Amino acid sequence: MLELDRVFAEYLPNSEEVVAGEKSRRQLLPGKAADIDAVITQRLPELLTTFVEETGRDISRYRVYGSVGQLNWTLAYIPWVAILRRDITRSTERGYYVVLLFSQDMQSCFLSLNQGFTQFRKTFGEKIGKKKVLQVANIALQNLAVPEGFIAGRLSLSASTGLGEGYENGAIVSREYSAKQDVSEAQFRADLATLLGLYDQLEQKLGPSLLDHLDLLSSDDYQEAANEIAKKPPASVLTAGAKPRPDKVLGKGANKYKRDPEMAALAIMAANHRCEIDEDHETFTSRRTKQPFVEAHHLVPMQHQDGFEVSLDVPENIVALCPGCHRKLHHARFGDFKSLLQKVFLARESQLAARSIMVGLPALNDIYKGDVDED
Ligand SMILES: [Zn+2]
Ligand SMILES: [Zn+2]
Repeated sequence: MLELDRVFAEYLPNSEEVVAGEKSRRQLLPGKAADIDAVITQRLPELLTTFVEETGRDISRYRVYGSVGQLNWTLAYIPWVAILRRDITRSTERGYYVVLLFSQDMQSCFLSLNQGFTQFRKTFGEKIGKKKVLQVANIALQNLAVPEGFIAGRLSLSASTGLGEGYENGAIVSREYSAKQDVSEAQFRADLATLLGLYDQLEQKLGPSLLDHLDLLSSDDYQEAANEIAKKPPASVLTAGAKPRPDKVLGKGANKYKRDPEMAALAIMAANHRCEIDEDHETFTSRRTKQPFVEAHHLVPMQHQDGFEVSLDVPENIVALCPGCHRKLHHARFGDFKSLLQKVFLARESQLAARSIMVGLPALNDIYKGDVDED
């Protein structure tokens, strides 16, 4: 297919520029696009639009667009053209969609039913996000039959950036085209029709949000995500007052409530990465964040969410603890941590009330006399 061949041949040679005698990656400046950019941002989207229409689908329900990177930034390593169902997602940052991805080395491209990685990165941080996007791809795969000639799951884009690696892990079903092979337009069109069919099937089976099917985060993943997000303050601002109960997890962890690592991150930041039982308690420095590693603990544990009309997953109900204190609250004899619990509770009582989490010390003591399972 001519358009693919042009990208394979021309993208890399157009990826650098010489500024003041030095070679650097090309900047995407207004009015300074290379000819090859338009193949990805205009010609291919037009072509794919036609192909979608030819399957009999109502094109107004889709958004088709391509990108070589953001304006005023450097050229993307993995250019793409995406086909979004508007009722599933409006942006490649989130949800799932069919996307034509070119590998970083321009040796191949893929038509791929794939997922927006930015959403995962924002929710879980980069490291756990990559793990989670892979898990969601596997859940999706369990609900689809992979046609012959297609790749199930992970693919290789020779990616060196987080976003590219997100697409590698987020792949559900893909078709590869090597730069050496002569891809006919008819073949490409048929493969796209197959993927659009799988896209529709997946929406019928799992609905518009695949993330809702993710199993509960393991304790390790939850703590790691919270510490990583706490390194960089989240952009979103939490409004005051009571929050509605969180959603329940649909998959294996069914009947448990979701915990948002961002809430834990806000609590860790508020505690300045120190143990709230005693800020002099020693912990170790995290390999990834270079900050003291503290763990997030729900003062009123999430397993008691059913007894509250409002969300327990708010920073005011989450305390930062050194690993020793944290394990103590979960595993020590009640009498051995009763006074510590009281200290933390009294420091939080009014903040809990501000979130309409109404609980007294006697009730909290009763909770901690029993088992506390989740962080
Ligand atoms: Zn401590
Ligand atoms: Zn805990």
